[in-house]
Amino acid sequence: MNHNELSPATRVVALGRVDREPGAQVGAPLVMTSTFHADGPVNYARGGNPTWSAFEEALGSLEGGEALVVASGMAAVAAALSLVPHGGRVVVPTAAYNGTLVTLADREEAGEVAVSRVEITDTAAVVAALDGAAVMWIESPTNPLLEVADLATLAEAARARGVLVVVDNTFATPLLQRPLELGADIVVHSATKYLSGHSDLLLGAVVTARTDSGRALHERMRRHRQLHGAIAGPMETWLALRGLRTLSVRLERASANATILATRLADHDRVERVRYPGFGAMISIDVAGGVEAAERVAAATQIWVHSTSLGGVESQVERRRRQPGEPEAVPENLLRLSVGIEDVEDLWSDLDAALGSA
Ligand SMILES: *Cc1c(COP(=O)(O)O)cnc(C)c1O
Repeated sequence: MNHNELSPATRVVALGRVDREPGAQVGAPLVMTSTFHADGPVNYARGGNPTWSAFEEALGSLEGGEALVVASGMAAVAAALSLVPHGGRVVVPTAAYNGTLVTLADREEAGEVAVSRVEITDTAAVVAALDGAAVMWIESPTNPLLEVADLATLAEAARARGVLVVVDNTFATPLLQRPLELGADIVVHSATKYLSGHSDLLLGAVVTARTDSGRALHERMRRHRQLHGAIAGPMETWLALRGLRTLSVRLERASANATILATRLADHDRVERVRYPGFGAMISIDVAGGVEAAERVAAATQIWVHSTSLGGVESQVERRRRQPGEPEAVPENLLRLSVGIEDVEDLWSDLDAALGSA
């Protein structure tokens, strides 16, 4: 059977399993070993592991490429940024995941790379920054302003100029957006978030296209993983694949909840602004009353979990500017809401009460 013809909702369940033989296990193997008997496909577990392969098969199929699992989202970001040559320039959104921005700022300060910061929704301005760049780094929707880039147009412009296109697809997931199909060269993920979905592990992935240039990039990324050593734990990978099985239903429920909450929040008198791209389960709100009011809302919730991170089954809330390195483009009173899969009326009552008490 050609799995690529199946719906993504089926693929998240069906892929990354062992062959169907009488008596064989049904799920993916959890292989705990540092080494393998000689003369097999893999010698040493920094190079490969059957548990990694299972997760990579599933994620690669969903993204339409070849996946490599790594230790965390930041390990994936670091692997992709290793492609920027010394002195190369990276075009990056002004507001994006702060780990990526801080890494780039550090390397810029050290004189290793140049950085052009752009407003990612201003397609013409991004294109104008591309000439001579090494990498165009895109997040869409962005963290935490939830801005959406015109991926297809930007990728085409970048390709025409020989600029490598990297997309951090953590927020959208391959169920809502497949950047490789839109012309990206590399997709990075924090699998810590939606892919694993239960706020119980850290993991990342790098996915490359099934083209000649994609295969060359895959080989460089595989080599980077093996030699830099930021490898994924088999247990984390196994749990992430277990979580991935329900990605489709989790996202469906969380997105439905988010659509309802975004509409109600837009009418709430304690909310100055709602940012919701119209898909997915992330919402950001600017709370009336400034920093203190926003902090009080986050602290007052009983069901929403006041914590950093996102993409779990449990709804989470955080004032993003608490985080060092968060760009100033992010308002001080912005609360990022990661909508989970709880009952939407319970989520609303809790949030409404917290907003009222602030
Ligand atoms: C969390 C996150 C990362 C970093 O992932 P870790 O798994 O925490 O290392 C990168 N990009 C985005 C968009 C994220 O939300």
